Amino acid sequence: MGYSPETEALEICRDLIRIDTSNFGDDSGPGERKAAEHVAGLLAEVGIEPQILESAPGRASVVARWGNQDSPKPGLLIHGHLDVVPAQAADWSVDPFAAEVVDGYLYGRGAVDMKDFDAMLLSVVRARQRAGAIPDRPITLVFTADEEAGGPLGAHWLVEHHPELFEGCTEAIGEVGGFSTEVGGQRLYLIETGEKGIAWMRLRARGTAGHGSMGNRDNAITHLARGLLALGEHEWPGEPGPSMQLLLAKVRELTGSDGTPEELLEHFGPAVRMIGAGMRNTTNVTMLDAGYKHNVIPGEALAYVDGRYLPGHADSFVPTVQQIVGDAITVEPYIEQPALEYAFEGDLVDKMTIALHSQDPGAHIAPFLMSGGTDAKAWDKLGITSYGFVPLRLPADLDFTALFHGVDERVPVDSLKFGARVLDGFLGLA
Ligand SMILES: [Zn+2]
Repeated sequence: MGYSPETEALEICRDLIRIDTSNFGDDSGPGERKAAEHVAGLLAEVGIEPQILESAPGRASVVARWGNQDSPKPGLLIHGHLDVVPAQAADWSVDPFAAEVVDGYLYGRGAVDMKDFDAMLLSVVRARQRAGAIPDRPITLVFTADEEAGGPLGAHWLVEHHPELFEGCTEAIGEVGGFSTEVGGQRLYLIETGEKGIAWMRLRARGTAGHGSMGNRDNAITHLARGLLALGEHEWPGEPGPSMQLLLAKVRELTGSDGTPEELLEHFGPAVRMIGAGMRNTTNVTMLDAGYKHNVIPGEALAYVDGRYLPGHADSFVPTVQQIVGDAITVEPYIEQPALEYAFEGDLVDKMTIALHSQDPGAHIAPFLMSGGTDAKAWDKLGITSYGFVPLRLPADLDFTALFHGVDERVPVDSLKFGARVLDGFLGLA
């Protein structure tokens, strides 16, 4: 090959981390405009025409057409988000926005979520563009705003206001997946084939307000607490769907062991927190709100529950939560997004597999259902099939899933370059 697709990955990633794009979930952050302009500049420099689209002042996404637009092949969407979650600098061992390299790791907010992929993609696209090695299929490159707040000012806004930008796209790659884990002493790459649905709920208990010094058997906070205790102790049953069944089969193969799904997933070590959540519904209480004075019993108490459900559970999930917490509490869903799951088969999956094997010949590959939500939920509205494929060959002892939104978020520099080479190979097959 006359060019080197990974050369710019590190520098681009460092530059992007240094542009603070913290997303606080409201308009108090710096926005993505500066990062969007930087990305657009990198594309324009090699002759690709990017569009910057603002959903609100400073909240910018970048879209560019690339590849052979005249090819009859189905369009491929490749996407990364530009925003990051905030970082508490005092908790970190380095400045989260300085993009320092220490002992082979690039540190910084966004190093794995997901300026790493933005940088790999830009490095590969620029190298191919310069070499005239443009993929023979229509490609749409998208760098979104606002993913960390669910995408109302990013992917969902683009889909709603500019669906024409995605015309012809039938499939997509983006986060979260493609990273390696170690199971049975062998490297296993996990490709995301779906994500759980989101049902954020407000739980409301009512009682009789009154003086804190007097007898009161109808206390809203007590009613709420009883329901929360039941919910906290509820064991949602493991119900692995098609993706997780394939993953479990792979774990059996690699470890030569059998056991319950729970036992098998323990082979993932600390990553079981995320991977195990792909097998069952989850309900976590995250906020409480009740009372306004120490000696006043409030008439109402609220709790906020982050609920995530498996594909196929959209209709039964909230009613089940209602049953668990009991009649004294009203369950009010206020944010809902569907669960997604796509088949781990077909041309695109084959290409991801070939590309990974070309850089890591012994690699094992399996699908998984992701516990969180991504921009894939927006693309799904357009009928686009999404896979999480951010290829990273990682050291076996790295607790990778803890780095998402974590303190000292970091990516091995070698992994970043590995990812760029895999992505380049993947685009070579396109
Ligand atoms: Zn992300």
